[in-house]
Amino acid sequence: MGVKKAATIAARSLIHGRPHHAQWFITRKCNYKCLDCNIWKEQDENEMSTEEIKRGMDVLRDAGIVELVLSGGNPLLRDDIGEIIDYATERFVITVYDNGSLAEKKIDLLRNVDFVALSIDSLDEEKQNFIKNVSGAWKSAMQAVEVLQKEGIKVSVAPTISQMNLYEIVNLTNYFTNKGIPVWYGLYSYDKPESSNQLFRIGSPNDEFIITDKEAMVKLCDTLMEMKKINKQILMTDKLLKILRSFYAEGKRTWNCKALQSFLVVDHLGRVAGCHNQTFAGSIFDLPKNWKNEKFNTQREQYKTCTQCMYLCYVFYSIYGSPSGHLSLAREQWKNASLLLKK
Ligand code: SF4
Ligand code: SF4
Repeated sequence: MGVKKAATIAARSLIHGRPHHAQWFITRKCNYKCLDCNIWKEQDENEMSTEEIKRGMDVLRDAGIVELVLSGGNPLLRDDIGEIIDYATERFVITVYDNGSLAEKKIDLLRNVDFVALSIDSLDEEKQNFIKNVSGAWKSAMQAVEVLQKEGIKVSVAPTISQMNLYEIVNLTNYFTNKGIPVWYGLYSYDKPESSNQLFRIGSPNDEFIITDKEAMVKLCDTLMEMKKINKQILMTDKLLKILRSFYAEGKRTWNCKALQSFLVVDHLGRVAGCHNQTFAGSIFDLPKNWKNEKFNTQREQYKTCTQCMYLCYVFYSIYGSPSGHLSLAREQWKNASLLLKK
């Protein structure tokens, strides 16, 4: 990241009362059929044009967004993804998700991305192919990690922790971090079918994925906290791991949600919501006039006490979404931040 971009982004992250994180699901198309996901079942050919997305990104920048995650479906399926990435990298710290199928093919478009996150849930070929519901998924993802790293692209691995892979997360973490590849985690969650008001559904209910061995989950949090003392490639913070630990050890939620306050999501049609579980709150182009209105204020007050989900990205945005949060993150993650700035 250039010094100029780092400086403008740092300045933006210290302004109070603005959202700092946005996740933009720029397409509903996906080439995989993961067993823990609902998105591929509700694909939509409609999506915003390149110009609309660029205009939307200007709105997000002016609103205060510092970090933009481009996801989907698979965002790399869009023909204009190169143009979108180029526009985004000039304005935000960006993360681009891929299921491991397209990153290598589109490698030249990813050279300036701050984080390319590949979803690899298992080192076991058969298991990864089973979870992704696609034969060859493991091979292409493992090869993509290797090639991207060799080419100097900032690639990381993002497994979703579930009962399917709970006992191998430590091994998987060691495997990649020993190669100098950072690891960040998702947590399997599913959206309740009856929540019909929500923007869209991501997690699909599947008994095989629901974490039943809570003791093992607590132990995993303890082990990762221990490993983090010497392994700086584990991108999960202690604060986040402690929240996860309390949730599984005592069934306690020790975080308050800041949806529509420090973070928001945008769908493939440019609709904004606090999170994907919540109702549509307006178009991205109306964000400046809506941000301080009564409807938004009422919604963000409701979300503060919402206990509906434990999606780790939303927990993360909630606990680090304020200027003081950014400073504490910088303190805890200083080595990672330095790595990013050196790029
Ligand atoms: S988890 Fe990602 S890759 Fe898998 S089906 Fe859902 S959107 Fe596609
Ligand atoms: S806790 Fe927050 S992120 Fe989760 S469903 Fe509720 S409002 Fe959305």
